[in-house]
Amino acid sequence: MTAPSAQEIARRWVRAVAETSYIAIDRPSLTERLAVRVTTLLGLLAGDGTDWSPAREIGTALVASHFTSTDALTGTLDVLGTDLSAYADATGRADRLRRMLHELAAGYADALRERTLSEQERIHTAVIRARAEAEQARWDSEARFKAVFADAAIGIGIGDLSGRILEVNQALCEMLGYSVEELRGLKAADFTHPADDPEVWAQLGELFAGRTDHFRVQKAYYRRDGEEIWTDLVVSLIRAQDGTPRFAVGMVEDVTDRHRLLTQLEYQATHDPLTGLPNRTVFYDRLAEVLGDQEPGAAVGVCFLDLDGFKMINDTLGHDAGDALLRTVAQRLHDGLAAPDRLVARMGGDEFVVLIAPGAGADVLAAIAEAALAIVRRPVQVDGHSLAVSASIGVVVRNAVTTTAAELMKAADTTLYWAKSDGRDRWAMFDPHRHAQAVGRYRLSAQLPRAIEEDQFLLDYQPLVRLEDGALVGVEALVRWRHPEHGLLRPDRFIEMAELSGHIGRLGRWVLREACRQAARWRAADPDWQPLVSVNLSVRQVAHASIVDEVRDVLAETGMEPGSLQLELTESALMATKGEPLSTLHRLADLGVRIAIDDFGTGYSNLAYLSRLPIHALKLAGPFVAALRRPTGPDESDVEILSTLVHLAHTLKLTVTAEEVETAAQAELLAGLGCDLGQGWHFGMPVAGGEILRLRHPAN
Ligand code: C2E
Ligand code: MG
Ligand code: MG
Repeated sequence: MTAPSAQEIARRWVRAVAETSYIAIDRPSLTERLAVRVTTLLGLLAGDGTDWSPAREIGTALVASHFTSTDALTGTLDVLGTDLSAYADATGRADRLRRMLHELAAGYADALRERTLSEQERIHTAVIRARAEAEQARWDSEARFKAVFADAAIGIGIGDLSGRILEVNQALCEMLGYSVEELRGLKAADFTHPADDPEVWAQLGELFAGRTDHFRVQKAYYRRDGEEIWTDLVVSLIRAQDGTPRFAVGMVEDVTDRHRLLTQLEYQATHDPLTGLPNRTVFYDRLAEVLGDQEPGAAVGVCFLDLDGFKMINDTLGHDAGDALLRTVAQRLHDGLAAPDRLVARMGGDEFVVLIAPGAGADVLAAIAEAALAIVRRPVQVDGHSLAVSASIGVVVRNAVTTTAAELMKAADTTLYWAKSDGRDRWAMFDPHRHAQAVGRYRLSAQLPRAIEEDQFLLDYQPLVRLEDGALVGVEALVRWRHPEHGLLRPDRFIEMAELSGHIGRLGRWVLREACRQAARWRAADPDWQPLVSVNLSVRQVAHASIVDEVRDVLAETGMEPGSLQLELTESALMATKGEPLSTLHRLADLGVRIAIDDFGTGYSNLAYLSRLPIHALKLAGPFVAALRRPTGPDESDVEILSTLVHLAHTLKLTVTAEEVETAAQAELLAGLGCDLGQGWHFGMPVAGGEILRLRHPAN
C-alpha cells in the first residue's frame, strides 16, 4: 500500500468534518490548514519524542474552529487512523499512532469542557443576576430566570443545603429519565455512583458550608432505567445578600459519547491489540514514573524476554498460528507474573517485558526470570500442534535514581543477546565485567579497518619441520596486531570479531598477500629453498567466491608456485562447508594450492565426509599431541588412536602435521608413528619473517 500524501489526507479530513458543523472558511483554505496539521502529526509519528502536546493542540484547535460535535471528532479519528496507519505500520509505530490519536482526542475533550464551562458560567451569571433583580423574591417567580432555567439545553437542578432537590429543568429530567415530580424530593446523595471520585462528596460539603463557591467534576449517573451516563457537572453556591449560603445549583452536561470514545481510545493507546497486554508506551510511561520518584538506593528491574525461534514457527505454521502462540504466552505471563508492583507488557513482535519496581533485588529478579522461563516452556496447543517453545531473558537491576530508561533498556538488550548466544532457553544477568569486555571487543572491531590502512598488523612465522630428518620445509603465517594502546594482540583477541563484523575479508586478503610476499623475499635470499607457506583462512572468506580470484592474483603478483601455498581451514569450518562454499573450495584446489584441515580432532570428525573434500593435509590438534606428554608416559590407547589416524590419513593421501609439539620425546614418538610434519615450540616459536632464514641455516 502506498501511503497517501499530507494533501490527500487533509482533503479526506475536510470531507469528514465539513458536514458536521458550520464552518466559516472555504474548503480550499481549510484543506491548506489541515494539511499543515497532518504534516505536524506525521513528524510526531516518525519521531521518538514523548511530548504529545502538538497532538493535543490540534484537538484544541478543532474545537476553536467550532468543530464541536462528536461526529467531527470520530470523523477526524477515522480518517487519521486509516491514513496514518500506512506510515505507522511500515515503520512499526502502530503504538505511537494510537497514543497520538488518543492525545488528540483528549485535547479535543479538554477544550470542549472549557468551552462548556464558559457557557455554564453565563448561565450561572444569569441565575445570580435574576436573584439580585428579584430582590430576595422567590427565584421561581422571576420570568427572566425561568426562561434561562427552563429552556437551557443543559440540565439544571437546584437544591437546598442539605442536598435535597428543590427544582429541576426539563433537560435534566430527560437526561436522568425521571419526571420533575420524581426528582423533587430526592437528594444529591441518592445519585452516588461507584465510579465517583470521593472528592466529589467532600467538595459538595465544602460548598454547602460556604467555604467554596463552585466546583467542577466529571461524574457518572445511573438513569432511572439503570443505564449509565457520564456528565460534566458544575455546582455553584447561591448566597443570600448577607453572604450566607442558601442554595446550590448544579449544571449537568451529558458527555457520555465523548467519554466512551475517550475510554476506548485510551484503551487502544495503552494496550497491544493482539494480546491485550499493556503496550510499550505504557511500559515506558511506567518506567519513567518509577525512575522519577524514588528514594535513594531504590532498585528497579526488568526482565526482557524474547521467544526463541519464533520466526521459524511463524514461517512454517503461518501467522495465525504465530498469533495464537503469542496470545497464549501473553496470557500465561500475565496470569503468572503480573502483580501490583510488576507490569507485564508486550514490547512488540515476540518480545515481552516484566518491569519490577520498586525495590526488587537481583535474587527476586532471577526468580521471576526462572518463573517466566518455566511458563514459556509449557507446551502450547495451536491448530492441533503441540508447540514446545522456549525464551531467552535479559535481566537488569539498577539503582532507580542514577539510571535512565535508555541505559536500562540498552543493558536489557545486551543481556538478552547474551542469553541468546549462551544457548537460549535461559536468562542472563547484566554483568559489568562481561559488558566491558564486549565493549572492548566492539571498540577493537571498529578500529580494524583503520588498523589495516595504518599497517598495524604483522605476521609471525612458525616453522614446519619434517619429522623424519628435521628439515625446515615451510612455515605457518600467524597474524598479530600491534595495537597503539594495547600492545601486541594475539589473533584470539580479534579474529572472531573480525569474522562477526565482516572485516575478516580485508584482513584475510592482507595476510595472504603479505605471506606470499615474504615467501618471495625468502626465495630471493635463498633460491634453493621453496618453502611451503601455510595461511589460515576463516570460513567467512571461503563463503565469498571472490577468494578464488584473490588467490590467483596474489600467486601471479608474487610469482609463487601454487603448490607452495597451503590454506588452512578449521575442521568445524570445513564440515559446515556445503553448496556454494564447497564449490569455491574445489576451485581453489583446482588452482593447485594445498588445502589443510586445521585443528583436526577438535570437531566432529566425519572422515567419510572428509574423503569427499578436496584436501591435502591434516593438522592434528594440540590436545591429541599433548596426550603423548603425560607425566606418566603416553597412554597406550592414545598412541593407538594416533597411529590409526595417521594410517587413515595416508590412505586418503593426506599429509599429517602434528601441532603443538613441545618436547623431543613427542617429536620422536610422532616420527615413529609415521607422522609427516611437526610444528610447535620444540621446533621453534612463531617469529618475524627475517628470523626464519637463520633457522634454516643455524650456522649463520
Ligand atoms: P592455529 O592455526 O592452530 O595456530 C597455531 C596456534 O598454536 C598459534 O597460536 C601458535 O602460536 C600456537 N602454538 C604453536 N606452537 C605451540 C605449542 O607448542 N604449544 C602451544 N600450546 N601452542 C602452540 P596463535 O598465533 O595465537 O593463533 C591462534 C589461532 O588464530 C590460530 O590457530 C588460527 O586459527 C588463528 N589465526 C592466526 N592467524 C590467522 C590468520 O591470519 N587468519 C585467520 N583466519 N586465523 C588466524
Ligand atoms: Mg592454523
Ligand atoms: Mg591449528
